[in-house]
Order: sequence, then C-alpha cells, then structure tokens
Amino acid sequence: MPWTNQRNKQLIERARRVIPGGMYGHQSTAILPDVYPQFFTRAEGARLWDADGNEYIDYMCAFGPNLLGYRHPAVEAAVSAQRRLGDTMNGPSEIMVELAEQFVSMVSHADWVIFCKNGTDATTMAMMTARSHTKKRKILVAHKAYHGSAPWCNPFTNGTVPEERAHILHYEYNNPASLQDAFRTAGDDVAGVFGSAFRHDVFENQDLPTREYAETARRLCDKTGALLIVDDVRGGFRVARDCSWSRVDVQPDLSAWGKAIANGYALSALAGSEKARAGAQGIFVTGSYWFQAIPMAAAIATLNEIRNSDYLERTEKTGAMLREGLASQAANYGFSLRQTGPVQMPMILFDDDPDLRLGYCWVAEALTRGVYIHPWHNNFICAALTESDVKLTLDATDQAFSVLKKRRPTLEPPEQLKARFDRLHEATLTAAN
Ligand code: PMP
Repeated sequence: MPWTNQRNKQLIERARRVIPGGMYGHQSTAILPDVYPQFFTRAEGARLWDADGNEYIDYMCAFGPNLLGYRHPAVEAAVSAQRRLGDTMNGPSEIMVELAEQFVSMVSHADWVIFCKNGTDATTMAMMTARSHTKKRKILVAHKAYHGSAPWCNPFTNGTVPEERAHILHYEYNNPASLQDAFRTAGDDVAGVFGSAFRHDVFENQDLPTREYAETARRLCDKTGALLIVDDVRGGFRVARDCSWSRVDVQPDLSAWGKAIANGYALSALAGSEKARAGAQGIFVTGSYWFQAIPMAAAIATLNEIRNSDYLERTEKTGAMLREGLASQAANYGFSLRQTGPVQMPMILFDDDPDLRLGYCWVAEALTRGVYIHPWHNNFICAALTESDVKLTLDATDQAFSVLKKRRPTLEPPEQLKARFDRLHEATLTAAN
C-alpha cells in the first residue's frame, strides 16, 4: 500500500477545532516535518501503525516508555490478570509493596520509593524532598536539561512567572568548574543538584557523564548537605540495570524514574536513600491515579524482564548495527553525521545543518519509506527490534540519503520550518537565562 496521510490530515483538522492548536507539547507535529503522523492506531513489538494504516519500524518508542517492545507478552499477561481484579481503587493493591521491594533491590542507592504517574511528578517531588530535607531553597540544574513541564522546569516560559524559577540556578553539564561556580553563587542555600542520566538535550550532541563531573557533584553535595538527584526518567534501565550513574560509580541521594519502568503503562517513581527518607516523608504528594494497580503489575513484569533477560545487550547490539550502517551510508553519499550518546538512545544530527534542513529532509524521506526517526530528539531502541528490522531500516535510509544527495543543491529551508525553529531556540534560550 503506498504511503498516504489523508486521514491524519483530516484528524488534525478536526482536532484543531476542539483541542488548542490541534495538539500540545512535544507530540505536536508542528515541530516535525509535515509528513509526520500525529495519530496512531496500534503498536506491536518494534512497529507501529498510524491512522492511515502506514506501518513504521519505530525508533522513538513512545518517547521512551517502550523498552521491551509494544504489547510485550509477559507485561500484557500481568496487565490482563490485574485488570480482572481492579485498577483504580480506594488505595493501592498489595502489589505496590512487592514492586517497591523489587525496585529498591535493583537500584543500589535506593532504600525507598514513591510511585507517581509522570516524570514531572517524580522530578518535582525530588525538588520538594531536597528542600524538605535541607530547609534550603536553591536547586542547581544543567543548562538546557529537560526535567519536565511544571512551571519550575518548563523550557518554555509562556504562562509562567519568573518567581516560579527564582531559586533555580544553571550550570554546564559535565563541567565541574561551572558546577562549583553555581554553588558559590547560591551561597549556603543549595537544596539539591539535578544531573540527567547523561546529557540528552534536544538539538545537541549527547554526552555521557564524566567521572570527574559526577564525583564533583557528589563531593559538593556532601560538603554542603545538598541532595544529589539523578534524573533517570529518560535513561533509566536503558543504559544500566541500576541507576544510570552507577556506570561512573557515583550514587545519588534521589533518582527520578518514569517512561520505561512499566513498559508503557502510566507509572513513574522517586527513589531515595535512607538519608532522604525523612525529607520525603515530610512532603504532601498525591494524585487520583497514582495508586492504580494495573501499571504496578506491568512494572513488576517489566522489572522481571530487566533482571532476567538480555534486553539491554540486545538493544546495544541492534543500536550498534544501526549506527555503523548509517555512518557508512552517510560517508558513501558524502554527508557527515554526528551520532552521539549510547547506541541504544541515538541522537542523529547532520554536520553543517544549523537549521536542520538536511536532517528534516532525510527523516521525512525515511518516514514515507516506513522508518520513524526523530530529527532533533534522541531516538530509542526497544528490545523487540531485530537485526532484520535494522537491515530493512538501512534499506530505507539508504534511499533517503540518495534523495537527499540529489535534492541537496536546491534544498531551501521552508520559511515555516525556519520560523518554528527560531521560536523553539528562542524559548529554550529564554528558559535557560
Ligand atoms: N525528565 C526527563 C529526563 C525526561 O526526558 C522527561 C520526559 N521527556 C521528563 C523528566 C518528564 O517526564 P514526563 O513527560 O513523563 O512528565
């Protein structure tokens, strides 16, 4: 069936009438090439189908939650069993305790865990716990790092007031001197320091945390009494079977989790060490759906796979295959790609592409050939992706490079695209200042 997007266009038209802007946040296709579908019908393994019936090999994994494969059999079985018993009740099911026990047994620094729904819930609770523990105000976050959409961390400032960010200070990720400067500026008032699992900022090359940076963060927190917080919402269980900073042997006091922990079911978590327990106990946090049993059953099944399968090694293998294949194709066609970060969470950017016109054209050509790759956010590889999926992907991307090479001389940045990016860059810069 030839690729088409008629139904998607109709749905967007209808959505515009009843949903502000037709869509919100990063799901808005206003910030992706026009061919990108906004609506999806179903998903299975490493594939998903859009509203027009087009099938894609998926490299976004729902922006992270799909770790093992969509509709993973063990997770779905646990969900079906729990659905027969109940989901949203007056309080949690007893499986919450089992899940918490499993979680703390897997995450080295963790002695306790609080479950919630979204990554933003977990990062916001981390901030509150740090303030509750220290009775101090300042929170240090890396320039451009994403920690959620609440007013204190929203990268777009419209609808927020500066006072909501009054005690947020910025430093440069992986730069110990800059972190030290931020501590100096904050005086004796630092409650907590956020560090992402690794640098995974939009539009930028990715970077693993250096040992020196992570150890400096740990030392400065110990010296001042501030809590060290790792935001593992995106990287959690994708780079390690423990907190991501375990790879540089640094233990935080708090870690925020979400996305992959229940393989797509709505669950996030704040985990903490003994030291931070009283601080966490002292804050009031809750939500109508935080105690749902189905996502917790899904998480128990997911953690079981994380402990007992080779899911991580498989994503590293297919991720490496993709990276090598793309590098050699790019070289063949005379392009220079920057593929950074862990192979299973690849950021794919073109050199000499400041307004992303090459990237946009290339991903759009791959999309209409059945491969869903994001042009400026990190991608994700799930454990259901096979080597033959990667080969099919590389067939599509080879054709996409070939089209790009032919069209390159005449390629002009569409005005609309340029305007979008100017707005995005401006908002990101405003937020960071
Ligand atoms: N932290 C990080 C590192 C994230 O990637 C995200 C989501 N992209 C969040 C926090 C916020 O998570 P959520 O969208 O579930 O609120």
